[in-house]
Amino acid sequence: MLSYRHSFHAGNHADVLKHLVLLLIIRSLQQKEKGFFYLDTHAGVGRYNLTGYEAEKTAEYLEGIARLWQRDDLPQAVADYVAQIKKLNHGPQLRHYAGSPLIAANLLRPQDRALLTELHPSDFPSLRLNFKPYENVTTKRENGYQQLKSALPPKERRGLVLIDPSYELKEDYDLVVKAVEEGYKRFATGTYAIWYPVVLRQHVKRIIRGLEQTGIRKILQIELAVRPDSDQRGMTASGMIVINPPWTLEGQMQSLLPYLAQVLVPDNTASWKVTWIMPE
Ligand code: SAM
Repeated sequence: MLSYRHSFHAGNHADVLKHLVLLLIIRSLQQKEKGFFYLDTHAGVGRYNLTGYEAEKTAEYLEGIARLWQRDDLPQAVADYVAQIKKLNHGPQLRHYAGSPLIAANLLRPQDRALLTELHPSDFPSLRLNFKPYENVTTKRENGYQQLKSALPPKERRGLVLIDPSYELKEDYDLVVKAVEEGYKRFATGTYAIWYPVVLRQHVKRIIRGLEQTGIRKILQIELAVRPDSDQRGMTASGMIVINPPWTLEGQMQSLLPYLAQVLVPDNTASWKVTWIMPE
């Protein structure tokens, strides 16, 4: 039973971090002319109305994308990310937000290709409809984790896999590791980006321990905390674990995170890190 709906959280601080990292990886893949494959295992619907009931109820985007919306001092990479969201908003008001599949699809060149999977019975039809106009994007109502077996290696032999579960089920913390292990066996040169929330720190440690045990190398962890860890309910931080990151990503995030921390968290409770779980 899937009850998580991303529309309640679209554009929050975790989406900002995730989608900025996504954009930087895609930009880096596009440094080469050869096409690449993008797999979004947990796609959501792709496009969110921030004035709709769900987004207004939680108003999480007000502490995320809204804090960047009207600034004129954005670092170039952040400006590039905000520009992707501006494409959806005709006018100065922030009303719509792009999910990971839409950010990626709008960046794809004719030689690139994407596969988006989503299991939710109401979200999948919206996903399919939203991506109908995109020729090089396929949507499937299938289990995202299984795609790391069935869709890899891609014929392009270059690619990015985004694994962005809702972690509604505790098994997700183990399933992401198993999925990466399966994918890596088939496609060791691919880039894999796993998003994680920090609700309870031991769950994140579980992913990290699991990845360490796979023997996979070149694993970078990027995290932005809006508050210190806590055992009370709620997400205090989020992060991206990137396997085979572009060589530029570590330095880019080291220079962007102080800015994001300051702008997204004006009350000074933020902290951030960029560290290697496994170096090369
Ligand atoms: N990646 C999206 C983005 O950044 O815009 C957000 C995805 S949301 C965090 C997680 C999504 O995964 C939900 O829409 C949920 O319905 C879906 N989901 C949960 N389990 C799944 C599975 N096993 N396979 C595919 N999708 C799944």
